[in-house]
Amino acid sequence: MIFTVAIDGPAAAGKGTISRAVAARFGFAHLDTGLLYRAVGAKGGDPVVAALSLCAEDLAREDLRSLAAGQAASRVAVIPQVRAALVDFQRRFARAEGGAVLDGRDIGTVICPEAEVKLYVTASAEVRAHRRWLEVGGDAAQVLAEVIERDARDMGRVEAPLKPAADAVVIDTSVLSIDAAIAAAVAVIERARA
Ligand code: C5P
Repeated sequence: MIFTVAIDGPAAAGKGTISRAVAARFGFAHLDTGLLYRAVGAKGGDPVVAALSLCAEDLAREDLRSLAAGQAASRVAVIPQVRAALVDFQRRFARAEGGAVLDGRDIGTVICPEAEVKLYVTASAEVRAHRRWLEVGGDAAQVLAEVIERDARDMGRVEAPLKPAADAVVIDTSVLSIDAAIAAAVAVIERARA
């Protein structure tokens, strides 16, 4: 069975939590595609060379979750050759036998427009910054400024900008508990599988 769940949305909207939960619920493989861009940004040197030579070890680095790694990821993610180098791996993962959940920014729009389910998980910048701040601490105003800056770069870039696919179901986690958001995602997937 080939079945792809594409989950896109801005940073700290809850994509990761929802993706892991639905992958476990349906027994699908899960790929956090942000990790690919984070690993390219963290590798240093020429980002295109880094993307072309990405290996499992690069993805296992412990510093990939930091705010700085997120900013570095979004800077290399504007480079078309970096994105192109990562397309095939993501497409193969998406259409592999057994079902897959991919979360990112361009899964439903560019990587897998044929995905059986497309979700766009979002929340206000203030809610997302507060969640990030609870995780990383530091200066709350600075965390909000970084969220807004990263949104602007991800939504404003020419290549594969962050936006909902025309047929995506939007889940706004500003107003939903995480359990309610997961239940909403599960309901959409169950409808598509029926
Ligand atoms: O989701 P995460 O915060 O880990 O993503 C880090 C950055 O990688 C994003 O801000 C975005 O610039 C980039 N990214 C992307 N396309 C994806 C996933 C992530 O451009 N599919």
